[in-house]
Amino acid sequence: MTTPFTTRFAPSPTGRLHRGHAFSALTAHDAARAAKGRFLLRIEDIDVTRCRPEYEAAIHEDLAWLGLEWEQPVRRQSEHLAEYQTAIEALAERDLLYRCFRTRREIAEAIASAPHGAMETWRGSPLPADDEARRLAAGEAFAWRLSLDKALAKVGPLTFVEEGSGPSGESGVITVQPHLGGDVVLARRDVGVAYHLAVTLDDALQGVTHVIRGEDLFEATHVQRLLQALLGLPAPVYRHHRLLTGPDGRRYAKRDQAQTLAELRAAGVTSQALRAEMGL
Ligand code: GLU
Repeated sequence: MTTPFTTRFAPSPTGRLHRGHAFSALTAHDAARAAKGRFLLRIEDIDVTRCRPEYEAAIHEDLAWLGLEWEQPVRRQSEHLAEYQTAIEALAERDLLYRCFRTRREIAEAIASAPHGAMETWRGSPLPADDEARRLAAGEAFAWRLSLDKALAKVGPLTFVEEGSGPSGESGVITVQPHLGGDVVLARRDVGVAYHLAVTLDDALQGVTHVIRGEDLFEATHVQRLLQALLGLPAPVYRHHRLLTGPDGRRYAKRDQAQTLAELRAAGVTSQALRAEMGL
């Protein structure tokens, strides 16, 4: 039996959904329908400091209003922390991770005093063993970071298939550029897991064959492909889509107070009209 086309929409319940989310959800849903495949919803709620149950309830409401149907049960990342932990421990045992005790502010300061560098591509190094032991004994919180050098020594050159396009029009067989993520955090000091690890594991566990999402996550794919190789997971096909922009030419974003789907609905906009406006 061949694997059915399976895709997903994976919002974080950190605010109300806006047009940008609707475009993403509809694009993934329509692709699944066109392929007579499966459409999944996944709630990415590992960030306990920012996620709220009312936003999660609103996601279901908004997607139903858009006319979407998704399989049950819905995977909620917060219910699978032990699985992520197991994967992190396995990577740590293979000496692919190191503990990072620095706060974001300390990293920012270190970067500011270095000739090159950016928070996103930070390359750190493990502490000397005695220093680390002292901090652990003192109960200091730490993040687990992937050691890019050690990871690269384990895997050969990697590629992924892009059926949509990246922000610079990248498509086809893309060569992974592992340095794009730097020594990425796989387990945050506060919640014990981080975005890339959870997404990579979940896409594999849920049998996702096609990751359909905005081109703002194109760079994340380089990191996630590397994690797939390290964890022995299959590589899905990727379809990054353009980002919807408002009349001012800027992409819709929660922080810009973009009009929410609930507001559009209250104003009498129909989901059909919204689809038409988006060219879907
Ligand atoms: N949860 C992520 C977000 O809301 C999306 C993750 C993904 O599609 O890979 O931006």
